[in-house]
Amino acid sequence: MTAARVEATALSALLDNAHRIAPQVVADRRAIHRYPELGYQEHRTAALVAETLSQLGIEVRSGVGGTGVVGLLRGSRPGKTVLLRADMDALPIQEEINAENAAYVSQNPGVMHACGHDAHTAMLLGAARLLAARREQIAGAVKLMFQPAEENGGAGAKRMIEDGVLDGPAVDAAFGVHVGGPDAGKIALRAGPNNGSSDRFIITVRGRGGHASRPDRAVDPVVVGAYIVTALQTLISREISPAEQGVITVGSLTAGTIFNVIPDTAVLKGTFRASSPEVRDHLRARIPEVAQGIAAAMRATAECEEFGTGYPVMVSDPAMVDLARAAIGETLGAANVVEAERAMGGEDFSFVLERVPGAFIRVGCRNPAWQEARPAHSPRFALDEAALPYGVAALASVALRFLDGEHAKEER
Ligand SMILES: [Zn+2]
Ligand SMILES: [Zn+2]
Repeated sequence: MTAARVEATALSALLDNAHRIAPQVVADRRAIHRYPELGYQEHRTAALVAETLSQLGIEVRSGVGGTGVVGLLRGSRPGKTVLLRADMDALPIQEEINAENAAYVSQNPGVMHACGHDAHTAMLLGAARLLAARREQIAGAVKLMFQPAEENGGAGAKRMIEDGVLDGPAVDAAFGVHVGGPDAGKIALRAGPNNGSSDRFIITVRGRGGHASRPDRAVDPVVVGAYIVTALQTLISREISPAEQGVITVGSLTAGTIFNVIPDTAVLKGTFRASSPEVRDHLRARIPEVAQGIAAAMRATAECEEFGTGYPVMVSDPAMVDLARAAIGETLGAANVVEAERAMGGEDFSFVLERVPGAFIRVGCRNPAWQEARPAHSPRFALDEAALPYGVAALASVALRFLDGEHAKEER
């Protein structure tokens, strides 16, 4: 038997192992689901994570970047370091109770795991169990990153980076996980841009208030604001390549209090998304130019705030996607690794992939028997727990393959 054959056999055993621990993974997921916590308040979840890692003999550092937890699993020999990441935060949504979730529905009013982060945390704990059992075969280290505040611009990954998650030992490659996409049992990957960037902006238009019957004596910021809303859409339709994607949404336009008074100011709040770093840079430069240009033409001023402080485009490294495709294919069967669709939702694992090569792993969680959609960020969100062992095995396989593969050997 050749060395490669031995390795393939080892990876293919991971799915069996993952199925064996599936009851524990489901129990972890449900325990977290019952007590969802908003960004930077994940105290109970972080305690569960730290406790589990400690029991597995993994070095634990808590309070990283707020409520983040980092586990460091050292192998028996020196080598490279690979990072696996899950997020822990929930959303401000009231969960709808139904026949499926009655046993573990959210006990925290108005808070719900509606994006599957409970499953991400449980799957990464599952992968930690499989990897801890293989410690003797591991050269190098696996760093387990449990981050706070992925949702709602919280940028928990960024704060953990600032707090050293990528250092000591330095991380050589990183893989993140999210549920969604295809049916349970399948894993989706994509080289290049995966998720769009996600930035916010606030534009304050300053005119001059006055009586509604004498607009000539005033500068009406409502009219100026309306022109700005319309003109911003031309950045998408006239300035972005048809091969790329961009979105500008003004979600809030507020001004005035009463029908017969022209107010002094109007405030526009919006978000812009871009499919590539180039499109993001273009929109970031042009949104203030258009707003200020239109305001100036109409005798008003426009001030733009909060530019470019959002999540960057998330780009998976093609070589790391190839590695993940091969490792997960050996573990789950090549037919179960599919191409991921490009998404425009923001994802703050992009901060990690800006600094180290890696890939984003989407764990299919749709139950094919479901008649209605159970979309993320809705009170009806649900995932098929049958998906969890596949995610566990996928995460463990990429870590083992990276530490054992040519990427690690080249420079050793
Ligand atoms: Zn989400
Ligand atoms: Zn999410």
